[in-house]
Amino acid sequence: MIPKETIEEIRSRCNVVEVVGSYLPQLQRRGSTFKCNCPFHQEKTPSFTVNETRQIFHCFGCGAGGDVFGFVMEYEKVDFVTAVKILAERAGVEIVYEGGSPEKSGNKDVLYKLHTEAAAFYHRLLVKGAEGTEARRYLEERDLPPDVVKDFQLGFAPNEWDGLMKRALKKGYTAEQLEAAGLAVPSERNGRKSHYDRFRNRIMFPICDPMGRVIGFSGRIMNAAEKGAKYVNSPETLLFRKNQVLFAFDKARKPIVEARRAIVVEGQIDAIRCHQAGLSNVVASQGTALTENHARLIKRYADEVVLVLDADAAGVKAALASSEIFIAAELSVRVVTLPEKEDPDSLIKKSGAGALAELVKNAPPALEFLIDCLGQKEDMASEAGRMRVIKAVLGLINKCPAASRRDAMLHRAADLLNISPQALGQDLRREQRNRRPAPRRAEETVPAPSARKTYPRQETGLLELLVHHYPEVQPLVHDYLPVCYLTDPVCRELVELLMIDLPESLIENFRDFDEETQKVISRIQVEESRSIDQETPARDLAAMYIVLFWKRRVDLELAELNRRTDLTNEERYVERSRLVQIKKILENEGWNDAKLAIEAHLHADG
Ligand code: ATP
Ligand code: MN
Repeated sequence: MIPKETIEEIRSRCNVVEVVGSYLPQLQRRGSTFKCNCPFHQEKTPSFTVNETRQIFHCFGCGAGGDVFGFVMEYEKVDFVTAVKILAERAGVEIVYEGGSPEKSGNKDVLYKLHTEAAAFYHRLLVKGAEGTEARRYLEERDLPPDVVKDFQLGFAPNEWDGLMKRALKKGYTAEQLEAAGLAVPSERNGRKSHYDRFRNRIMFPICDPMGRVIGFSGRIMNAAEKGAKYVNSPETLLFRKNQVLFAFDKARKPIVEARRAIVVEGQIDAIRCHQAGLSNVVASQGTALTENHARLIKRYADEVVLVLDADAAGVKAALASSEIFIAAELSVRVVTLPEKEDPDSLIKKSGAGALAELVKNAPPALEFLIDCLGQKEDMASEAGRMRVIKAVLGLINKCPAASRRDAMLHRAADLLNISPQALGQDLRREQRNRRPAPRRAEETVPAPSARKTYPRQETGLLELLVHHYPEVQPLVHDYLPVCYLTDPVCRELVELLMIDLPESLIENFRDFDEETQKVISRIQVEESRSIDQETPARDLAAMYIVLFWKRRVDLELAELNRRTDLTNEERYVERSRLVQIKKILENEGWNDAKLAIEAHLHADG
């Protein structure tokens, strides 16, 4: 359990405009609010609105809305507690849990601490340990100077079976904790269980989560003659999930957001070299296959991915597989082909960062890369060769969830393959029928606008007037509108609250409302709806709504009257006359007369 005061402190330190703006750099002030295109649905004109005074956001297009925590939840696709943690980290607020099970959260905390301390230990040895002499020489040879070593906290794991373990055990950690962290490997000899260091005599690259906390390591041998794998990585642990982690993402996040583009290279040293050379929106896949999780992570910050992979056959295959995954996640993908035998590290060292930047700038879209690769492999003059190329191209286009993008890709492909777009389109549809439909991730996670609950416009309109013009409107509603005349339960509850409390209380107690109610609160608070005309005073508009709700009510009562069996004919007649009379006044007379009629009616009802 996170204490309520902590949550409030985090909220007070995380300005919704700054937080949203850091995810959506295109957020711009428009009058009294901030606007940009909504990240939760496709749109061309901005209806996503953030209100700084009320610390709330709302999209008039898709209905998404909430406070700063709600935004992080929706954007990062995380639960409330995780959103609180993300923002706590950002605001520098320490979370002290109350109650709950300290064990469960403690477990992860121990692993984080262990990684932090291990990274510091390896780093110390590399920078000034006597054991680190050879490692220092290696890094010098590879052109990785001390400031880079410091920036990336590179380290050296000593050539011992228990170099790290010894120190960790002395500090009070257990062998089991080291094992859970993936830093020690269990072994059994003569029936006796023991542990030894996983990383020995290696250059250590700490791997961080997006928040910059060390969660794993990759260790490289220093000379090729040595036996054993070139790289040893942390195994899957509570903290380290290979298929979600990208090396240097913590350092690249901000530059990625700013460029709306992520560059993905293979090796850690490649990524480090790029950052060193000033190309900082670069992350490394560390030689593993890219997954949907990687794509989702990047998609939060970028619109486009540029893949930089080796020019060999394995590199091409990996590029194509990754392209499909990124395209399915609605990212644009372009592919850089490096000169033969080069990787980003060697290219930058040889020709400078400008050479790589130029390749990135001119990289062809994945579709063109695919057609180009296949064109070299297949005999385009033969029928069968052409069909194989077309099939592969259709496969890639089909991965794309957005129909408009599929269409653009189709036209481009038809152009490049010299086929009519109509014919290619027919083949595409045939492929679609034969296969399962393309994954529709975005539509799965974001509720379609049509599935969203709608609220009576007039009732939310009245609520808007209430929160934005409280002093003039509240007394009027209080005196002349029985809350039960509203039909929507959420709107009714909110009007009821506003009769006894100030609008600010809705924001102050925001997290205590259910999700539906939170959405309505965001919507009415974020700004006055554009449908409200600016000329008419708020009071008059409120009166108009009150009259409207009364008319609706009277019509209802008139309809009801015919079904009522508890009245004599005469009583029915009297009641009908009364209702018809007030209806006439409501329809034809001004507010002053309507007011009197309403007063009389309320009085009559007792
Ligand atoms: P260097 O330049 O130091 O030789 P590199 O990054 O160019 O390293 P590659 O052989 O091109 O090395 O491999 C690319 C990436 O793949 C590495 O950075 C590493 O993350 C991963 N990798 C390579 N070999 C292994 C291995 N044996 N086990 C696990 N991962 C590996
Ligand atoms: Mn290399």
